Amino acid sequence: MENRLIRAVPREIMQVPTREPIVSFTFDDVPASALDIGAAILEAHGVRGTFYIAGGLAGNVEPGRSLIDRAGCGELAARGHELGCHSFSHRDLRHLDGGALAADLARNAAYLDAVDPRASRRNFAYPYNSGSFGKRTMLGQSFRTCRAAGEGINRGATDPAFLRAVEIRQPQQHVLGLARWIDALVADPGWLIFFTHDLSPQPTPYGCTPPSFHLLVAYAVARGCQVLTVDAALDRMGLREARP
Ligand SMILES: [Zn+2]
Repeated sequence: MENRLIRAVPREIMQVPTREPIVSFTFDDVPASALDIGAAILEAHGVRGTFYIAGGLAGNVEPGRSLIDRAGCGELAARGHELGCHSFSHRDLRHLDGGALAADLARNAAYLDAVDPRASRRNFAYPYNSGSFGKRTMLGQSFRTCRAAGEGINRGATDPAFLRAVEIRQPQQHVLGLARWIDALVADPGWLIFFTHDLSPQPTPYGCTPPSFHLLVAYAVARGCQVLTVDAALDRMGLREARP
């Protein structure tokens, strides 16, 4: 409901150019397999991804996945990938008051800056893809973009504080059908952002198998898409970072 309200009443608008197809592959949380397998698949195609990190999840071992820690973040940055912010505590933003959110974002910024210092604003992804109408001014000022879900291609007038993205998740049959999003993008260009979590032969419901991720990356490259991190995509679109 709140997500629909945000879509209906955008806070600000940027124009996503429609002259060429741009694809960004992004990972949330981030599981170790996203680093060990996902980053390697992207690199094998000469491209890089965006990894939205929640510092509070660092090193967690959960059913079906364990999450990277500071060393893993450092490795991603050293290999040319983008570290984005996914909040520190990974709570639904609707359940945090403004002060708690500001403190949480500052804590994650410190976590990320320790491994990958950055002069400009980072990009953000909402925990659980759950937007917060009341906090979007703070988010819009703190981050270059904020990514939600929404199963769509960003094209033309777009709210940078609520970017659309397409989830790569189970069942496997669903993953294999996602190539149609790349076909749709090539037919009618814009910016297609994929997001997923773990890559495993037995993925969690929120991940996919390594061969299927490989297939999507290879297909995007073969179809002539520009495959770029979120930050690099914004630069390529000529959407210059506005100083707050
Ligand atoms: Zn998450």
